[in-house]
Amino acid sequence: MHTEILTSKFIAANDREKCIECGKCADRCVFQARCMEDGELVYNQSKCFGCGLCVSICSTEAISLVARANQTVKKSL
Ligand code: SF4
Ligand code: SF4
Repeated sequence: MHTEILTSKFIAANDREKCIECGKCADRCVFQARCMEDGELVYNQSKCFGCGLCVSICSTEAISLVARANQTVKKSL
């Protein structure tokens, strides 16, 4: 079952050039928008709530919050 939930007005954007694949943002994201696969960060932007937790943990400033166009996100229940 999929439910649409209201999100913040922002969404995380990644700068792959700055990412060192440390995985800290994947550990911090409670919405499972980020995970590590074979040592590489995989970011599923459609799951991003826009909370900004990943921004605060990233030591290389590879993540920024940008304005979101659509303020809902689909979540599997
Ligand atoms: S915390 Fe920053 S550097 Fe580390 S994997 Fe995430 S985006 Fe990349
Ligand atoms: S802004 Fe929040 S929900 Fe989006 S990827 Fe970062 S920690 Fe996850």
